[in-house]
Amino acid sequence: MKVIWNKCDICGVCASVCPVDAVTISEHKVEINNMKCIDCNKCLIVCPAMAIVRGFENNSPKEDETTIDLTLLPNIEKEYDVIVVGAGPGGSVTARFSAENNLSTLILERDREAGIPVRCAEGISGGGLDAFINIDERFISSRIRKARLYTPDGNHLDMRSKVEGYVLERRVFDSALCDIACQKGAEMLTKADVTGIKKTSDGKMKVFFTYKGLQRYVTCKIVIGADGVESRVGRWAGIDTTLKLNDISSSTQYRINNIQLDSEMISFYFGNKIAPGGYVWVFHKSSNSANVGIGITGNFAQNKPAQDYLDEFIKIHFPEASISYTVYSGVPIANTLDKIVADNVMLVGDAARQVNPVTGGGIKQAMVAGKIAGEVAAEAILKNDYSTKILKKYSQEWERVLGSKHRFMYKIKEKVLNAPDERLNKISNICKGLPAEDISLTYLFKAVVKGDPKLVAEMATAFVLSKISI
Ligand SMILES: Cc1cc2nc3c(=O)[nH]c(=O)nc-3n(C[C@H](O)[C@H](O)[C@H](O)COP(=O)(O)OP(=O)(O)OC[C@H]3O[C@@H](n4cnc5c(N)ncnc54)[C@H](O)[C@@H]3O)c2cc1C
Ligand code: SF4
Ligand code: SF4
Repeated sequence: MKVIWNKCDICGVCASVCPVDAVTISEHKVEINNMKCIDCNKCLIVCPAMAIVRGFENNSPKEDETTIDLTLLPNIEKEYDVIVVGAGPGGSVTARFSAENNLSTLILERDREAGIPVRCAEGISGGGLDAFINIDERFISSRIRKARLYTPDGNHLDMRSKVEGYVLERRVFDSALCDIACQKGAEMLTKADVTGIKKTSDGKMKVFFTYKGLQRYVTCKIVIGADGVESRVGRWAGIDTTLKLNDISSSTQYRINNIQLDSEMISFYFGNKIAPGGYVWVFHKSSNSANVGIGITGNFAQNKPAQDYLDEFIKIHFPEASISYTVYSGVPIANTLDKIVADNVMLVGDAARQVNPVTGGGIKQAMVAGKIAGEVAAEAILKNDYSTKILKKYSQEWERVLGSKHRFMYKIKEKVLNAPDERLNKISNICKGLPAEDISLTYLFKAVVKGDPKLVAEMATAFVLSKISI
């Protein structure tokens, strides 16, 4: 397999499905190690940028990089209690709660700064957000008060939420979360690309990374992998993070301008001709600009790439739009991994597959998990025991707070996103005649008793509870 570098968007989706860890990603390039590759084709199928082709290139890792002493790096210690890999919402919140509990904490981030590039529709509910950050106009692009679901026959269903939601300015939001972690005492190194972890003879972990072209390492007691969809920390710790094709949503998103939108409403479009195994979303950034994106599951992407569907959608719904930029990415719409801890290691956020499998919402989920992980790390350090036995408290708490709900959502995803168009059309028929402002969750349940309660319950629970009020 070969990556066409000028097409690649460095989104990491290929790494998330590779069963043999043959894909390595750095800030600047993606490489496939053809000595490891077993030609399963999965990366080629899911790559939203169509940047992988069959072919051979000798990309085996170079052995000649020099290891240098870390004391040469200003402000970085030789050893930490906790090292967090990745400064997304999951990593920053983990680091914040770790530092707040007096643990020496280092964040290693591959990119130049937290929050860039943005690979997200940026929607979040306001509920519970203040447990992590004070709501600030700087990171809010617009507000969400209603959601509209379009069924394949063009009918729609409007829903209102009592809880206000936001379309974020994620580059500011992520950066603010990271600042909070640093204000609480965490240290951070950007452009630090973590390349491996290794247990030491005294029960600690060495975390290897490249920085300014040189291979380095720093030691810690606990490593937290908050390294997103392409996560490799889990693999290095012996956890199988490989996503199945129907558990990865291959996505393309445009920022479109020069349009007119209801500036309080987000919309979703369903249908096998529009987005098989997924949906199109339209999230207003202002009254004349929006994030318009599509996610389709990997098993459908092999027939036609997501971007082709999105282009067709734009042509029909926003023919006058001007596209200011495009991002390729992937969302793990899977069950949370059975194993999210190992000795000295915890996985958080997309790395642990903690995204809501129906909505693809993962910002708040990663923050919720990060808080638990940071607090459990503190307990472990206090007990001087970093074994799976102690760290398991994190998985148990995750299960209690959101894990079991996500397993339910996963079942819904399997049904709703793969439902035939006729079944989806039924929803709007059932709700025909209901005044829009009355389509609350409770009203929906009552109104559809004579229709198809099971289906509407599935849809309403999945979307109203998860997308608007998470
Ligand atoms: C198209 C799309 C739309 C989405 N829309 C929404 C939405 O509307 N609402 C919502 O709630 N969620 C949405 N999500 C999901 C959301 O973006 C993620 O769930 C969320 O960002 C997860 O946070 P995280 O901290 O786990 O990972 P990330 O935000 O992905 O952060 C991972 C970080 O780790 C770094 N990293 C990775 N590997 C290494 C390494 N080896 N060394 C050092 N650093 C490394 C990366 O550079 C990155 O900064 C969307 C996702 C996509 C792709
Ligand atoms: S073809 Fe399969 S094994 Fe080879 S790099 Fe792609 S996903 Fe990995
Ligand atoms: S999946 Fe993403 S990272 Fe991999 S080759 Fe395609 S664009 Fe590049």
